Amino acid sequence: MAKEICDRQGLIIHIMVLVICPHCDNKTLLLDVSNDNAYCYHCQKNYKSIGEVLILENERWRRKHAKTVKEMEARKGVVQ
Ligand SMILES: [Zn+2]
Repeated sequence: MAKEICDRQGLIIHIMVLVICPHCDNKTLLLDVSNDNAYCYHCQKNYKSIGEVLILENERWRRKHAKTVKEMEARKGVVQ
């Protein structure tokens, strides 16, 4: 709806989202959705694009889940 209002008024919508920085793990990474920029004002890391942050976040997610699966298998091993 906000986007539609901006369209009607001929304004450029500027969407900023604060997320967790994959580099320093603080919720200080500002995603500039409109300009495809990502800058962390804690560790001052400037990502090339939002896509780069997504790739890093996917890798981190996979690592975390791979560990969980391994732990579950280990636990199963103890039970059997
Ligand atoms: Zn950071």
